[in-house]
Amino acid sequence: MNRRGLLLPTAVALVAAAALVGVSPSVAPGVACPSVSGVVPASALASPVPARACDLAGAVVGAGSLAVRVPLKDGESVTAAGSARTGHPATLTVERFSGAVRARIWQSDTAPAPKPRPPVARMGSVSPPPPTEATTATTTVRCGDGAGAWLGMRWQGAYRWMMRPAGMPGYLGAFGPVRDAVRNAATAVDRGHNSCGIVGDLALSQRYSGETTRDAGINADGTCGDRDERNVVAFGRLDGGLLALTCLWWSRGRTVESDVRISDAPGMFTLDPAAGCSGSWDLQGTLTHEFGHVFGLGHVAYAEHGELTMSDGLPACSAGFRSLGLGDYETLRGQYGTT
Ligand SMILES: [Zn+2]
Repeated sequence: MNRRGLLLPTAVALVAAAALVGVSPSVAPGVACPSVSGVVPASALASPVPARACDLAGAVVGAGSLAVRVPLKDGESVTAAGSARTGHPATLTVERFSGAVRARIWQSDTAPAPKPRPPVARMGSVSPPPPTEATTATTTVRCGDGAGAWLGMRWQGAYRWMMRPAGMPGYLGAFGPVRDAVRNAATAVDRGHNSCGIVGDLALSQRYSGETTRDAGINADGTCGDRDERNVVAFGRLDGGLLALTCLWWSRGRTVESDVRISDAPGMFTLDPAAGCSGSWDLQGTLTHEFGHVFGLGHVAYAEHGELTMSDGLPACSAGFRSLGLGDYETLRGQYGTT
């Protein structure tokens, strides 16, 4: 079920709690704690709410098809970045600081629904179509759009990640080529691959550390759970129409862990969009987008920036998102610098 649309939180604060930040753990008279018996709507935490007095540690905070568990320690934050088939996913961050908890959401809910696009590999490395006016226009837009969003956290060392073969859906075939597609996606971000003629020199790095039996710390309902000190990419069930979901655990601007769950829904992905694709998404391009999140990139709205890899709506059957667009690249360079 798609829970997005049922919960579209706007910036409505339940309580005027701003004055409580960093003050008393007790709830001031007249301040209402959100109910923690179920999922706490992120909108209830738009303004900081005292963590201990409202018993929020470990509570699940939700926004649309995303949710995160409130960190147990002060100074820690969790971010969920979902990538949906039809756009309009949210990015949800829950921060615990100065004794308070605050939720921030980003959702392009003012953007119109994604325009239908022809199911062609527009800029892919797989059987690129002959240059046409449309292809040229797409490249021009992708390399002329400097837009980008930052989630707020950075890796200070290399991102070392593992991949879980268990749970990979059988329709994708053998694990090797799937792993290679995912590795290629991570490399594309690491090396700053782009189709704009920029020599990639980003001062960030990743390393694939092999296979694991561990799962990503992400639940089927889109909840970023607890971290386990391992960065894992794994297939699994994802509700809410999500292609994939990246969770980041971070503290004072420094990323400490990031996991990615890829939907195992039948037929969701293809390794080769040029081969008779219909209604499937390019696995490598989708993962390039997810690794963008891993390194701290947020979404830009599909309606205005649909040619960028960090757009919140990736079209089906396109291999055109396996590298970075101008805004994707420039935003990473602005945060990490160059080598
Ligand atoms: Zn995304």
